[in-house]
Amino acid sequence: MSLSKETEVIFDANRGVDYDSANPPLYASSTFHQKVLGGDAKYDYARSGNPNRALLEEKLAALEGGDYAFAYASGIAAISAVLLTLNSGDHVILPDDVYGGTFRLTEQILTRFNIQFTTVDTTHLQEIEQAIQSNTKLVYIETPSNPLFKITDIKGVAQIAEQHKLLLAVDNTFMTPLGQSPLALGADIVVHSATKFLGGHSDIIAGAAITSNKEVADALYLLQNGTGTALSAHDSWTLSQHLKTLSVRFNQSVENAQKLYTFLSQREEIAEVYYPGNDALHLSQASHGGAVLGLRLKDETKAQAFVDALTLPLVSVSLGGVETILSHPATMSHAAVPKEVREARHITFGLFRLSVGLENADELIADLNYALKEAFNESTNQQTETEYFSR
Ligand SMILES: *Cc1c(COP(=O)(O)O)cnc(C)c1O
Repeated sequence: MSLSKETEVIFDANRGVDYDSANPPLYASSTFHQKVLGGDAKYDYARSGNPNRALLEEKLAALEGGDYAFAYASGIAAISAVLLTLNSGDHVILPDDVYGGTFRLTEQILTRFNIQFTTVDTTHLQEIEQAIQSNTKLVYIETPSNPLFKITDIKGVAQIAEQHKLLLAVDNTFMTPLGQSPLALGADIVVHSATKFLGGHSDIIAGAAITSNKEVADALYLLQNGTGTALSAHDSWTLSQHLKTLSVRFNQSVENAQKLYTFLSQREEIAEVYYPGNDALHLSQASHGGAVLGLRLKDETKAQAFVDALTLPLVSVSLGGVETILSHPATMSHAAVPKEVREARHITFGLFRLSVGLENADELIADLNYALKEAFNESTNQQTETEYFSR
């Protein structure tokens, strides 16, 4: 019987062992007894393999529609593994607004091993084509991108990659496997920060890479075991549990995000709202706009007052939790980017990213409504960006 994604993450095929417990046991063992010397027991040492990680990986593969999945200690560990399948002298094409941690990994670490990178605006397919060199091996994209929600045509890039015999990897963290299926659109590898929606409870750091390409899968396993970046048994167990509620969590967050989008779009205090829910290209490759949106205050000197007046959202980095999370790219994810560069990329002091959680949507709207009114009230303290950074 072939199962839907919702059922797949809940049904435990190993049910029946260990007292018929509703949940799989946690195998908290670094090593396993070997009855037969030189035998082929399924597990011998937990870095190389562990039943909890194996179960999680089965579910991750089913969610993305891939043949193989590998769980890593973080999203960045999964992305590192994908990039380390390459050799010295190979070249990669990356988005110019790639996730900051991925940029740091390429710029400060992988270039030391002579893996070469070119960043382009991947929303323009011709920029990708023009960047291809004789040593190009991989195109790496994120869609929607962060924090401005730019959309890249996954099928279009997959066609270019195929013509030039390149691999295509997609960071699918923002849409989750329920909102967007890059492998079905022609990608070769999907990566996730499972810290975000897949985990969904802001309690673990985890990552995953999924593929149907056997050669890539072998390389990913070698790296998982050989560089020691596999996800622990405990975190694999926790993530498997959290995946069971992914569809209800994500669907509810998307519904809430759509309500917040409608509210925010009508506010005079807000200059721009970014949400891919109405973008034709995005909707041609995804089921909806997702649960994360961007907003830019008309007056950036109100940014701190806005945060001060809010009650519900957690003000922090990260996204995809059950709680609504408000991020401020200028002082968080993009704080290390020089101000001129940041502003040229429209990441101004008034820009916020809102990852919408599972709270009652009317209460979230009431909270935002209050905070916007308070912040834009003439008598409220204003703080310029210069003052902020000179604290
Ligand atoms: C958070 C994030 C990552 C990195 O994942 P970690 O789990 O923090 O290592 C990669 N890509 C995107 C899009 C992210 O949001």
